[in-house]
Amino acid sequence: MRPFKYQTASTVKDAVSAASNSEGSKFIAGGTNLVDLMKEDVERPAALIDVSRIDLRQVRSEGDSVVIGAMAKNTDTANHPLVRMNFPLLSQAIFAGASAQIRNMATNGGNLMQRTRCVYFYDTSMPCNKREKGSGCAAKEGLNRMHAIFGWSDGCVAVHPSDMCVALAALDAVVSVEGPGGKTRAIPFSEFHRLPGNDPSRDNTLENGDLITSISIPKNKFAGNSYYLKVRDRASYAFALVSVAAALEIAGGKVKDVRIALGGVAHKPWRAKKGRGVSERKSCDK
Ligand SMILES: Cc1cc2nc3c(=O)[nH]c(=O)nc-3n(C[C@H](O)[C@H](O)[C@H](O)COP(=O)(O)OP(=O)(O)OC[C@H]3O[C@@H](n4cnc5c(N)ncnc54)[C@H](O)[C@@H]3O)c2cc1C
Ligand code: SF4
Repeated sequence: MRPFKYQTASTVKDAVSAASNSEGSKFIAGGTNLVDLMKEDVERPAALIDVSRIDLRQVRSEGDSVVIGAMAKNTDTANHPLVRMNFPLLSQAIFAGASAQIRNMATNGGNLMQRTRCVYFYDTSMPCNKREKGSGCAAKEGLNRMHAIFGWSDGCVAVHPSDMCVALAALDAVVSVEGPGGKTRAIPFSEFHRLPGNDPSRDNTLENGDLITSISIPKNKFAGNSYYLKVRDRASYAFALVSVAAALEIAGGKVKDVRIALGGVAHKPWRAKKGRGVSERKSCDK
């Protein structure tokens, strides 16, 4: 692993200002994805800013939404009574991912930011536009059984690996971010991750120094009729070949609303919406 500087941040302001003032720096939270990528020489941050001690671990009810902190661990989030009661779909999706040990370390912010599991992205001897702009895409003619059906481009056919994000897409979550100068933004989940277009190196719409502070989920009436189904090569500890987060709102014996999101098949968590057809399967530039 290459040498890097390390510093801890105890507030959002400290973290954002450290990131803005240190070129080539990255936030580190649970470290379960970033450290692996550093060991493989895929990520080469000059400095790590440890945000895991920032007090953003609460899960709370706020008006018509439940707000989950970016630094809350995946396990604590999935087990929280507010999440279990309002969004069992989210608990199921989190428990379908990784292993108990990893979920105990992984944070919600880190889960949203985790990078693709495309084998060529991890293999620095192979061309990969996501890792090195303009180098090519080894997966197009290589091992691509687990790659994208939707939302791909000629530059990249990788899929987003998160289970949690599939449920968040179905639940219309909103991601809160704080950036340089204290600028805050609320990003609808559908606009958080981006499609590869002609720049696969950028997975999402965050700018340099932006820190995810929380994820807010509007309360809904799906809790009684929702399910997260994940199909994978092994019964546990494997990424999705395909997954579905499905939720129905039923009243008076009639279906009032439906939400379906797909995982493991697109460059970002994929909301299946009414009227979306074959022509939209290939990438746009977002
Ligand atoms: C063996 C293994 C199996 C796995 N299987 C699955 C699986 O089946 N399903 C699944 O969904 N996931 C799986 N995962 C991935 C796991 O869920 C992620 O590694 C984890 O969620 C990342 O969270 P973290 O806090 O450890 O992030 P880190 O590794 O600390 O960071 C990841 C990225 O997020 C950025 N970051 C972290 N926090 C913030 C923030 N608040 N704001 C902005 N940027 C931030 C970091 O800079 C870094 O780029 C697996 C991981 C491993 C190692
Ligand atoms: S699919 Fe994307 S991540 Fe995989 S090799 Fe091609 S450019 Fe890289």
